[in-house]
Amino acid sequence: MADVAGAVLRIGVVGGSVAGCAMAIAGARAGAQVTVYERSDGALEDRGFGIVVPPDLHRELVAAGYLDAGMPTAPVSSRVWLTRQSGRFAARELARQEAAVTACHWGLLWRTLRAGAGAVRYHRGRPVTEVLRAPSGGAVIRTADTEEVYDIVVGADGPRSVTREAVAPGVRPVPAGYAVWRGTLPLTALDGHPHQLELLSTAWVTLGYRGGHGVFYLIPGAEPGSRLLAYAIYGSPPPASWTAARETYVRHIAEEHFPADWAGLVGRGEHTSLAYHHVADFHAPQVADPPFLLAGDAASITRPHTASGATKALQDALCLERVLRGAPSPADALRGYAAERSPEGARLVALGRRLGRAMVERTPDWTAMGAAEVAAWSRAALDGADSYLYGEAEG
Ligand SMILES: Cc1cc2nc3c(=O)[nH]c(=O)nc-3n(C[C@H](O)[C@H](O)[C@H](O)COP(=O)(O)OP(=O)(O)OC[C@H]3O[C@@H](n4cnc5c(N)ncnc54)[C@H](O)[C@@H]3O)c2cc1C
Repeated sequence: MADVAGAVLRIGVVGGSVAGCAMAIAGARAGAQVTVYERSDGALEDRGFGIVVPPDLHRELVAAGYLDAGMPTAPVSSRVWLTRQSGRFAARELARQEAAVTACHWGLLWRTLRAGAGAVRYHRGRPVTEVLRAPSGGAVIRTADTEEVYDIVVGADGPRSVTREAVAPGVRPVPAGYAVWRGTLPLTALDGHPHQLELLSTAWVTLGYRGGHGVFYLIPGAEPGSRLLAYAIYGSPPPASWTAARETYVRHIAEEHFPADWAGLVGRGEHTSLAYHHVADFHAPQVADPPFLLAGDAASITRPHTASGATKALQDALCLERVLRGAPSPADALRGYAAERSPEGARLVALGRRLGRAMVERTPDWTAMGAAEVAAWSRAALDGADSYLYGEAEG
């Protein structure tokens, strides 16, 4: 696409993480000249956590050329629901669902997208201080020592986006009141646990307890062919009396509530990464106001129970490419983008809140549930919404 005067369209992208790189690929594929500004001069690939995406989205991104088919993934086809048996320290399987996911290493996903955006100008260590409308049309991106005008400015600058102020001023993340611990462990953590290893080779595991749940799955490691064990555990933040590092409180949760085998994994010291976050969410009512548009976590954050933040960012990019190719002008393209992506952000935030209520704030008595109860409870929590994480019960 060209700008209104017929010159090559210029797109500036604020933020060079998953959303920023995917949006840069989208712009470049639609024929624009793209420049990315990334605040960090460190290695984004070192974030090291696991994420899952829908298998059909992964296939679409490979077919469309956004992702290299050689990027390691760890696909599994099922979801297994476990809880600790009442009065015992052993796990009980409640249900199995067909809920295929393609598990990825966040850092490898970023690296692949960054390589895919290879032809665009990517400025590392360049924080954007301000974005504003240019009097002559288009928008200005300001850094400490540069000022450039673009036809379109994409805000892919995460939860505390400076770009969002130009599109949806005053919209801020709303705390959910609970926390998540994310960790990764070398696969040797499963040495001597053949049953868990076998389970995780074909399924991802949800472990329910009163007051929260944990999710466990294998992801590719940085070394070719290797795997890591990844988890995300949700629950109440540490009490004021907890004087050790907040990250370590997850071990207390696991010891209190998990079956012994699973608590043992969380309790192991050899984590390759461990982080603590407060869960929060928000969505911008409109994700574009020409010449600005928002993508990824800058536009909306859903509670991670939907496993849809990076997924949405990648879908945002596919949408941007489509509207840039199909619309008569950049402003029309951005209006088309807003019409499609604004409701999706709102939908995911609403779904994340329902799942958060069901899985953390008002957990059921997992010990009394079986496959039929999990199916009925899942249907009630989804309330008609679509989620790739919830499938049909297996045999
Ligand atoms: C516990 C947990 C589990 C999750 N699991 C999943 C999952 O399974 N599946 C899934 O799809 N999603 C998942 N997510 C969500 C996913 O990780 C995020 O949605 C995604 O990584 C967001 O990418 P982003 O590029 O929008 O934002 P970010 O990764 O936050 O990137 C924003 C970038 O902008 C840069 N930046 C910020 N301000 C400026 C500035 N002023 N100038 C220049 N650069 C700037 C930052 O340095 C950063 O690199 C999970 C999230 C959590 C917390």
